[in-house]
Amino acid sequence: MSLGLFINNKFVPGVEGRTIDVLNPSNDKKIAVVSEAGAQDIDIAVDAAEKAFNTVWGEKVPGFERGRMLIALAEAFEANAETLASIEALDNGKAYGFAKGFDVAEAAACLRYYGGWADKNHGKTIETHDKKLAFTRHEPVGVVGQIIPWNFPILMFAWKLGPALATGNTIVIKVAETTPLSAFYAARLIADIFPPGVVNIVTGYGAIAGAAISSHMKISKVAFTGSTLVGRQIMKAAAQSNLKSVTLELGGKSPNIIFDDADLEQAVSWSTFGLFFNHGQCCCAGSRIYVQESVYDKFLELLTAKVKSIKVGSPFAADTFQGPQTSQLQFDRISEHIKSGKDEGATVHIGGERHGTEGYFLQPTIFTDVKPHMRIVKEEIFGPVVVVAKFKDEADIIAQANDTMYGLAAAVFSRDVSRALNTAKQLKAGTVWVNCYNQLHSQTPFGGYKQSGIGRELGEYALANYTSVKAVHINLEQPHP
Ligand code: NAD
Repeated sequence: MSLGLFINNKFVPGVEGRTIDVLNPSNDKKIAVVSEAGAQDIDIAVDAAEKAFNTVWGEKVPGFERGRMLIALAEAFEANAETLASIEALDNGKAYGFAKGFDVAEAAACLRYYGGWADKNHGKTIETHDKKLAFTRHEPVGVVGQIIPWNFPILMFAWKLGPALATGNTIVIKVAETTPLSAFYAARLIADIFPPGVVNIVTGYGAIAGAAISSHMKISKVAFTGSTLVGRQIMKAAAQSNLKSVTLELGGKSPNIIFDDADLEQAVSWSTFGLFFNHGQCCCAGSRIYVQESVYDKFLELLTAKVKSIKVGSPFAADTFQGPQTSQLQFDRISEHIKSGKDEGATVHIGGERHGTEGYFLQPTIFTDVKPHMRIVKEEIFGPVVVVAKFKDEADIIAQANDTMYGLAAAVFSRDVSRALNTAKQLKAGTVWVNCYNQLHSQTPFGGYKQSGIGRELGEYALANYTSVKAVHINLEQPHP
């Protein structure tokens, strides 16, 4: 018996009858079987979304009513927080405490935030001349396709639903094939609140179901979170089909800069959280730590002690900070990166091996003696692996920090506000944290410079991703010349 695809507020089996086994990353055992969507299933889901858009959603439902439903969904998430968090811990492997206190809590906060926007995203009246009235309307784009990864399953789900539903669109969302369960649980909550066809949830493989979404002729916009490699494919498919608009939230190799005047205890604490939170599986992870020469030894000593104190273990143990990596594939990719670091001559300062004997657990790992050309310095590892290097002065650190194809996030630690802000200004990154790390709020935009993405999620900025602006010109008794 497998869990179906969620289309028109009902669970239905995939047309071709194929299924995907969902595994527990703590022990590699099967925990569920879900239907795998093929291209025909995407067509069915898009038709449901299109019908809903034309009949029971879009501008047919006033903004305040859409907002009320989003806020009701936020409340339902909160009422079911323990179940949703348990599913995340079981399916993704993240520590239950973080799943409940961060992922589910922030998902609810995001839905509530966009519920507030639903009746406030107005157009403008534009002055031209006294015989004319011009104004703009912010109209929903129609059916939107959304493709999300496995690192924050329920949170990414909420980041995508919130702005799209607030602005009146209907949705076909593909959740990651490795972590589909929390979204399918949320589907039951959605069915109690939203009309059929407004939110359709599928899972399946990227090359089949994901590609069917990004190349679909009836989908007006695609929003993707995942790797830069796949982001390119999404853009290509969008261009080659109907030129649907595209937003991409991709990878990163974010620099975390520690100046010599920083509060070192605090910098160590935030830096540990900056990389090891969510087992290093954050697109904005502070994976390159740069420390000013004169405090390098002290910082490394404190960081080593802090990282050694990280408790790796069962997601359900109260003191666990780091659970397993999410899949065998990710475990292998990270292990391969660790090997490349060793082969290229970096020093494994601590960690660098598997933790335990079953599941996809890895030791928290620090590399030192790294060189800019090494793969562990250049490539996104997406695991509990950080590189620590030195810098001389401000010019040196700006050059090193910006020496990357990515530009998602960065952080600066300094007690000197001018120094911190001057550095923040020169960093080519969509988010810069000063004296903190991994601070994300529904109100604040998030997205990348360079090859870390296109467009911004969260905040007021995300509303524009899901609306088309129509200019209406009205002639006020000006005769044709
Ligand atoms: P991925 O980009 O392959 O997968 C992310 C999502 O895209 C999944 O839902 C997947 O099914 C889908 N997808 C895959 N191929 C597709 C295609 N051709 N067309 C449409 N959709 C497609 O990422 P991954 O394999 O899970 O992880 C690989 C690397 O990506 C990680 O090691 C990490 O570096 C990066 N990553 C980044 C993020 C992020 O938040 N930016 C999240 C997950 C992974």
